[in-house]
Amino acid sequence: MLDKFFAPKAVTVVGASREEGKVGHSLIKNLTGHGFKGPVYPVNPKAADIMGLKCFPDIASLPDGVDLAVIAIPAKLVPSAIEECGRKGIGAAIVISAGFKEVGEKGKELEQQLFNASMASGVRILGPNCLGLISTQCNLDASFAAHYPEKGDIAVLSQSGALCTAILDWAVRNHIGFSKLISIGNKVDIDEEGLIEALSDDPDTRVIVGYLEDITNGPHFMRTAERVTKKKPIILIKAGTTDAGSKAASSHTGSIAGARMAYQCAFRRSGVLQAPSLEALFDYAQIFSYQPLLKDRKIAVLTNAGGPGIMAADAVENIGLQFAEISEAAKDKLRKFLPAAANVANPIDILGDAPAEVYGKALNIILDEEGVDGIVVLLTPQAMIDVEEAARQIVAACRGRTKPVAASFIGAERVSNGIEILQKNRIPHYPTPERAVEALGMLGEYAKWLERPRRIIRRFAVNTTKVDRVIRFSHKRRQMNIGEQESKEILAAYGFTVPGDRLARNSDEAVSAASAIGYPVVMKVVSPDIIHKSDAGGVRVNLTGPSQVRDAYELMMMRIKEKEPNARVHGVLMQEMVTEGREIIVGMTRDPQFGPMLMFGLGGIYVEVLRDVSFQLAPITSEEALEMLFGTKTYKLLQGVRGEKSVDMQLVAECIQRISQLAMDFPMIEEMDINPLKISAEGGRAVAVDARIRIGAINGQL
Ligand code: ADP
Ligand code: MG
Repeated sequence: MLDKFFAPKAVTVVGASREEGKVGHSLIKNLTGHGFKGPVYPVNPKAADIMGLKCFPDIASLPDGVDLAVIAIPAKLVPSAIEECGRKGIGAAIVISAGFKEVGEKGKELEQQLFNASMASGVRILGPNCLGLISTQCNLDASFAAHYPEKGDIAVLSQSGALCTAILDWAVRNHIGFSKLISIGNKVDIDEEGLIEALSDDPDTRVIVGYLEDITNGPHFMRTAERVTKKKPIILIKAGTTDAGSKAASSHTGSIAGARMAYQCAFRRSGVLQAPSLEALFDYAQIFSYQPLLKDRKIAVLTNAGGPGIMAADAVENIGLQFAEISEAAKDKLRKFLPAAANVANPIDILGDAPAEVYGKALNIILDEEGVDGIVVLLTPQAMIDVEEAARQIVAACRGRTKPVAASFIGAERVSNGIEILQKNRIPHYPTPERAVEALGMLGEYAKWLERPRRIIRRFAVNTTKVDRVIRFSHKRRQMNIGEQESKEILAAYGFTVPGDRLARNSDEAVSAASAIGYPVVMKVVSPDIIHKSDAGGVRVNLTGPSQVRDAYELMMMRIKEKEPNARVHGVLMQEMVTEGREIIVGMTRDPQFGPMLMFGLGGIYVEVLRDVSFQLAPITSEEALEMLFGTKTYKLLQGVRGEKSVDMQLVAECIQRISQLAMDFPMIEEMDINPLKISAEGGRAVAVDARIRIGAINGQL
């Protein structure tokens, strides 16, 4: 699809330069310096030849058959150069030139012209404002970078050109090979989505990694990524996410969620692995490039020192992998050549004075073990060990195996040659045991993604007509914050249980409402101007008799007048007190890029303080809803501590799915909270004790 970029037959540099140090010079040097087979034609009206290559005065006078132009001329000349490329039949252009939207209004206009030129001429554009592209399969260096990587199967995308140069520098030092390195620049035409699509079909690419600052079109990207990640892993680092959008929120969910969370959800949903740092990005990239996937979760550790073995064991536990059990037969085999003091159980400790060959022998035995899925090999440079020989032994034992191995040789000076041997032979090496374990964990994550069952979204029988009516009624009155009562009507129409309640406008009405409902009761202020009722002194719980109700009513009215003098107060809601069940929050906020994000967490008035919440994008399956629970500490609380009964987790998952359906059915709902939702043990009920919903435009009308 982007073959003209990745494997062009002939390349021209528009803006080639004789002057050392100029971008137009580096481009010629790089294009001719790494064995690219096709011709390279410099274009420069003022030079006869550059570095021994015949120069052409303009694009029109180039020979036929050029399919890629690398453009490094002043920004204002670029749009017409693209048109010329079109006329000449050059279908692809890398625009290195800067001075477009990154420099403000004028540049933005110029970038629009560039876009128009691309559309009109059909010339595909990478950039502008980029470092260029490297494609090692045909020895093509169409960049002005100072380094050139080894051949490999990792494709790198970067929205930052400067970062590309840093990545290259580091990759060269660590013998990490790339299939492609692509600087995507301002993305006037080709963006991350087009590139992952193209790389998905690239036989030379096994892993796609990228540094992104933004994503052009969230939903499109997700759809493509979901397809691509079924074929090969995508690992991304997403930088520069501000959470500015969430400040205007009126719900708990809206104020906790933000763009960062939305990206996290979108990546998870589409199988994209997210790296927390640049370091992690390449930690993961190496193991995916070099090693087979982790089939199951059982990890063995081979070490010549106790301490690092324990560190690795802790890391295995922490990230949810399992510690493998070594069979008796294997232990016997190990005992044959290990000293009596060695530990033949996992972590297998061959002791500090073990000679290098022991690594090979032991590793072979562990690799043969059925109960072992992945192995961490640790080495500390003790006593007389020949570190390089140990590395060679490890390499030999791993050859042709189908289980992943990650190594960590701890130290610096004495281990460096050994590390180099590992890296050159595709054994991923990490400076610490923890990082080796984490990398293995990522292999496991990806394997899980590949085996994920088909997503089935359950649909509940609900009353959409009723919800539609409540929403339109509020919208007509410009009541964008739908209060507790009407929000609960909506929830009831979607199958939620709500406590019985009655509106009371004075203390007499409050008392008679309370006796109709039955004690104990709850009293809550009803005001379109008060969103958080407790904050305004507008909630009293556990009122047990008429005199208490009367007093509470008078006191509440007084307090609210003090705290919210301008609030319109319609009265109080007398409500059945729900005594059983644990309080959780289930909510939704609509992300502008990725749509409805569902939230689950510990409910009540401390949500924003504790922030023990998890998010997923709607629509959601029941498995995903349960995963949301597992992701929180609240889950442990809900399971019950010190003899408490566990709440009904399936019921919680079902509530999340119902909210998911509501959010999908009514796109005008911007945010909602059920806080708290009271959940009982199995056989009990889920009661929406409080709720609020905020709506936005309906069919574009606010
Ligand atoms: P707000 O969130 O606007 O301050 P809520 O209606 O959520 O008001 O009430 C605050 C707290 O009071 C809830 O978190 C819950 O603990 C308790 N509460 C409210 N209504 C009930 C009820 N019907 N039964 C039991 N507890 C309730
Ligand atoms: Mg509440």
